[in-house]
Amino acid sequence: MGTGFERNVAAADASARSVALAVLRSGPVSRADLARRLGLSTASLTRLTRPMISSGLLVERQPEGGNRTGRPSTPLDIDAGQAHFLGIKITWDVIYAVVCDLKGTVISRTRAAVTDTSAEAVVKQTVAIIDDHRRRGPGVTGVGIGIGGTVEGHRWVRRVPALGWTGEFDLADRLSASVGLPVSVDNDVRALTQGKHWFGEGRECSSLAVITVGVGVGCALVIDDQLYEGRRGLAAKVDHWALDPEGPACPRGHRGCAHQLLASGQVSARASEGMGRPVSFEECMRLAADGEPVTSQIVQHAAACLGLLVSRVADMIAPERVLVTGDGIELAMLGEDRMRTALVANRSTLADADDVRLVRSDFYAWAQGAAAIAIRRHMLTELPVT
Ligand SMILES: [Zn+2]
Repeated sequence: MGTGFERNVAAADASARSVALAVLRSGPVSRADLARRLGLSTASLTRLTRPMISSGLLVERQPEGGNRTGRPSTPLDIDAGQAHFLGIKITWDVIYAVVCDLKGTVISRTRAAVTDTSAEAVVKQTVAIIDDHRRRGPGVTGVGIGIGGTVEGHRWVRRVPALGWTGEFDLADRLSASVGLPVSVDNDVRALTQGKHWFGEGRECSSLAVITVGVGVGCALVIDDQLYEGRRGLAAKVDHWALDPEGPACPRGHRGCAHQLLASGQVSARASEGMGRPVSFEECMRLAADGEPVTSQIVQHAAACLGLLVSRVADMIAPERVLVTGDGIELAMLGEDRMRTALVANRSTLADADDVRLVRSDFYAWAQGAAAIAIRRHMLTELPVT
């Protein structure tokens, strides 16, 4: 417990931080609008923003003409070039990296093939990528990592099936000790969701669900503006939810689970079986788009199951918006009508009001999400605001 003075400083710091965050997410924004959103008087807002304007973090944009009361309104914005962040998405075969400014705008991007999937080798390769970016690009304030596994507390990585990692280790600490920068790690779908929430298609939503289809099926939730991690980082594990009691069984024995019906490798396997020859996921999508009956049936059935999955997630948290994305998004796009019909049919209530959007996200968007994790850490804990 600190002294009264320390508590007051901490409270002022928290208020100033919430102002900086609101400007980051909504800027340029008028002072009146900002005060209303944050429930502050304009006098308090002026007091809180003064140090941040002096330090150059916040900038006053050119007023858009005088308003009716005579005083010109000068919207506040954040100086996006104040800091840069490196976002890295690690997949089983490629490491994608982007440099973003404070507002999440991607400035540069690179990719490198994974040479060895062992944890030791991937850590080493990631350190080399970070060092390389620091040599060539703008100074980096922090690093965010997105990885397809169980991650807790922005550091502990427990299980990464695609890379064959089973042990538990502090990836953030390992990287941070090597590069001498703050490093935050998160599950890749959560990182993507953070990027969409602050800088992408989920901007301005205080609740958001993101469902990804691709090599696996993922989901992450934003509830009351907070990305929800859950106990031991295990929230929103929907990949083995049962969606079709008549469906094929997955290796874990679940009949018709989301992974078995929607993961691209499983879709490809069913198409290959149906066509009597090897058919990749991409070819399956092309054939279905051309109206080939076997693959069309597979895609339409999967899309209906995806609609059921969306309805369950929507029933759970009633989000303002649901984004369906991932490298298997073609499946949802081809079967969109079936997906939406199944969503309405299965949703417990008000289904017609659901805002469900299909979004294309390449792997650099996932890396941008990883940068958003680093930006969040910076904004919430490190940035000097008072
Ligand atoms: Zn399963």
